[in-house]
Parts: sequence; C-alpha cells; structure tokens
Amino acid sequence: MVSSLEEKCIFCEIVKREEKASIVYEDDDVLAFLDINPLAKGHTLIIPKKHYVDITDIPPEMLSKISLVSKKLGENLINKLGYDGVNLMHSTGASAGQSVFHFHVHLIPRISGESIGFQEWWFSRAFHPSRKDLDKTANDLKL
Ligand code: 5GP
Ligand code: ZN
Repeated sequence: MVSSLEEKCIFCEIVKREEKASIVYEDDDVLAFLDINPLAKGHTLIIPKKHYVDITDIPPEMLSKISLVSKKLGENLINKLGYDGVNLMHSTGASAGQSVFHFHVHLIPRISGESIGFQEWWFSRAFHPSRKDLDKTANDLKL
C-alpha cells in the first residue's frame, strides 16, 4: 500500500514520465490517462500531479480542478467514442476498494444495453489491453 511520497507511487512515476501511460489530458496541476485494466474502452483516471492520498488529504481547490477536467473528459468520451453515459467514481480507503493511494477519479464510459459487473471488475481487473490499443484510444480522445 502506497500512502506517502517516501514509498513508491506508480501515479507519481507516471507524472514524472518514469512509468508509461496513455495520456489523454494534461495541464499544470492535473493529468488524465487511460486505466491499464479498463472496465470499458476509454476508462480514464484523473489525478492531481501532486501526491495526495485521498479525499481527506486533497485540498478543495484541487478537487475543483479535477471536477472541471472530469466534465471536459466525460463529454469528450461521449462525443468521440460514441458512448451515451459516464460513471464518475472515486474510492477513499482500502475498505472502499482504493488500491492506488494517490488520489484519482475514475471516468467510466457507458452505453445503453451494456451492463457492467462493477463488483466483479473491481476485484478482478480482468481486461488487459495492449499499450498499442491504449495509445490509439488515448489519441482518439486527445483534446
Ligand atoms: P482504485 O482501485 O485505487 O480506485 O483504482 C486504481 C486503478 O489504477 C485501477 O483501476 C488500476 O487498474 C489502475 N492502475 C494501477 N496501476 C496502474 C498503472 O501502472 N497504470 C495505469 N494506467 N493504471 C493503473
Ligand atoms: Zn503519488
């Protein structure tokens, strides 16, 4: 479990470009990239570039910035990938299912008629697209 900067944090490594990610959005404070084990094509994670652990730790101003990017990217998933719905999800704490302890919001695109086994996915993270496929989707979503 990663709970502080002293420990290795995979999302901090992505921010520093020390770990690969298929990035869909970046500004001075916020980074968004595709989940490596997506629940649907285009499943995006939105993070503050600075390391905050969870909802108790993140400053309200930073949460506002993440919300604005969530709106932009949520609309973008609908407009560019042909979805008609989006779930915004966040987990604070292991009891809630948080597995990476760098604050993040999940944007999960949805389409009518396709149900998603949230519970199963949460524990299995079953889908493993190739980096090539992730990069192609990220490219399609670039603003
Ligand atoms: P949580 O369970 O903490 O809400 O979600 C963490 C998410 O981060 C998971 O959906 C998981 O698939 C994703 N994830 C974990 N490691 C990596 C990684 O190295 N790269 C990317 N792009 N996503 C990751
Ligand atoms: Zn971090």
